[in-house]
Amino acid sequence: MTTIGVLGLQGAVEEHIKQIESIGLHGIVVKKPEQLEQIDGLILPGGESTAMRKLIDQYGFLEPLKQFSDNKKPIFGTCAGMVLAANKLVGSEDSHLNIIDITVKRNGFGRQRDSFEAELDIYGIEKPITAVFIRAPYIDKAGENVEVLAKFEEKIVAAKQDHILVCAFHPELTADTRFLKLFVQMIEDYKQIAV
Ligand code: GLN
Repeated sequence: MTTIGVLGLQGAVEEHIKQIESIGLHGIVVKKPEQLEQIDGLILPGGESTAMRKLIDQYGFLEPLKQFSDNKKPIFGTCAGMVLAANKLVGSEDSHLNIIDITVKRNGFGRQRDSFEAELDIYGIEKPITAVFIRAPYIDKAGENVEVLAKFEEKIVAAKQDHILVCAFHPELTADTRFLKLFVQMIEDYKQIAV
């Protein structure tokens, strides 16, 4: 059975686990680097990226997470998880995991629009999904090997590069599992090449 881990240091962890289980897969909360060996794919959840980044250091996750990505195992970053995955952040020298060639603007939609919902067309999904944005980042620049999967008001809000999937919104907060299933498909593809 496919097992998806959710990095369990901070943020919207349980919501992802529930959604993973709702499609009949096994979800585990990853609190120790050793647990990365038990999973087929990893979700970096939404929450607060600066807090999560500190906890990644504190719990010795930085190198194991980079190794997980170097092994081409699929990773899905949602919202703060997308911030963590990015190569660059607008107006900051910090980079976190550096695993996808995007430049991310944190809190990109401004204070007036702290949180909102939008109907989004996603490349690879037939009908629009309702996307929940909460103090959401957006992708300011995407490298040439990055596939843009969705835009909202001209801003890139979902993308994929090889085994890394990111989105600025929170797919785990709705009952619609189609975005998660894009990630599950990446895991299935990985398993095919790994055998
Ligand atoms: N603005 C937050 C950050 O940069 C992300 C918000 C979220 O994950 N909902 O960490």
